[in-house]
Amino acid sequence: MKSVDAHLAEILATVRPLAPLEVDLEGALGTTLAEEVSSPVPLPPFDNSAMDGYAVRAADVAAVPVTLPVIDDVAAGSDELRAVGPGHAVRIMTGAPVPAGADTVIPVEWTDGGTASVRIERSAAAGNAIRRAGEDVQAGEVVLKPGTVIGPAQLGIIAGVGRRRVTVRPRPRVVVLSTGAELVDPGNPLGPGQIWDSNSYTLSAAVRAAGADGFRVGSVGDDPAAFLDTLDTHLVRADAVVTSGGVSMGAYEPVKEALTPLGTVRFEKVAMQPGMPQGFGVLGDDRVPIFALPGNPVSSFVSFMLFVRPALDRMRGLPPGPPATVAARTAAPLRSPAGKRSFLRGVLGADGVVAPVHGQGSHQLAALAAANALIVLPEDVTEVPEGGAVEVIRL
Ligand code: AMP
Ligand code: MG
Repeated sequence: MKSVDAHLAEILATVRPLAPLEVDLEGALGTTLAEEVSSPVPLPPFDNSAMDGYAVRAADVAAVPVTLPVIDDVAAGSDELRAVGPGHAVRIMTGAPVPAGADTVIPVEWTDGGTASVRIERSAAAGNAIRRAGEDVQAGEVVLKPGTVIGPAQLGIIAGVGRRRVTVRPRPRVVVLSTGAELVDPGNPLGPGQIWDSNSYTLSAAVRAAGADGFRVGSVGDDPAAFLDTLDTHLVRADAVVTSGGVSMGAYEPVKEALTPLGTVRFEKVAMQPGMPQGFGVLGDDRVPIFALPGNPVSSFVSFMLFVRPALDRMRGLPPGPPATVAARTAAPLRSPAGKRSFLRGVLGADGVVAPVHGQGSHQLAALAAANALIVLPEDVTEVPEGGAVEVIRL
């Protein structure tokens, strides 16, 4: 049997970062920056007031209280500024340019708020409440490096340096398809022998949570030709494909039956529990990676976390690797088959103790939904006593 590590290594050696492209800012959230972003101007571009108040000369307010004539009013965006001469004040708003001559701003709270003249109660040193040009960013300074994931604040600074478009590695487009003649889309009644398709929802949601765009095709039956047809229809818009079901050892395994003859997708047993049957390979001239995951809901989810998520990181241009683990202690004794890496579902508490959930079957989706962690038991471990040290993957 192939090891989990060998399977992931093969996947990461096959998938490639997506080619950079230029996108509008509106579409940049969640993408990975593929260029250096710098500012053409200093930020702020000019000295401006940090508060609503009065721009004055510090020397004129050295002795307080003092009353000064107010010779002008400057709002943010004002471009016609009168210089502040000795003994004068200008009423100024937050973000407005500091007029020539003034070297300090007195907050309105320290005054009577007058508009013709102002009585100032407290003095301030030069530079008070003034935001200097270039205090945030110097002209030409790099504000974001390639490889940065663009979140709201990163998107903000790209806009803040005046850019409308930016070169990024896009969010991978992932087509999600489940197979099984027994599957019914939720919202419809169940007939005899039928179950609701949960995997296509779980997996497309997991795709989105991994920073990619999931297109949930829904479920196809167990006919290999129909499966191939559906795959063909959707492949054009896919950077990757994730399927569930139809990869085991039984009959009616449409994914395995349809893809094996292509010769570019391999179906193997990976030494893990849950999730032993795994298919992986590439499709078409564009060599689109396909992850053929097992159908049991917990198996497909665990497989996604172990194999698809790191692959999506790589496609996004991020450093890929196995999911991070943290050290914990188990609240109950644990068992694992020899030679397989187990991923048991558990609830990890703030005290670092992880309690395995009731219901460790690979079909027990409710138990997975109640868990917040996967307890990882290595291949050579068959038993862990209560209180024993374990590694867990946070979900
Ligand atoms: P398979 O891998 O196709 O043999 O499926 C293994 C088990 O997972 C069977 O009990 C299926 O009914 C179940 N299963 C397969 N696909 C789904 C799905 N999309 N949603 C929920 N259960 C599924
Ligand atoms: Mg099936």
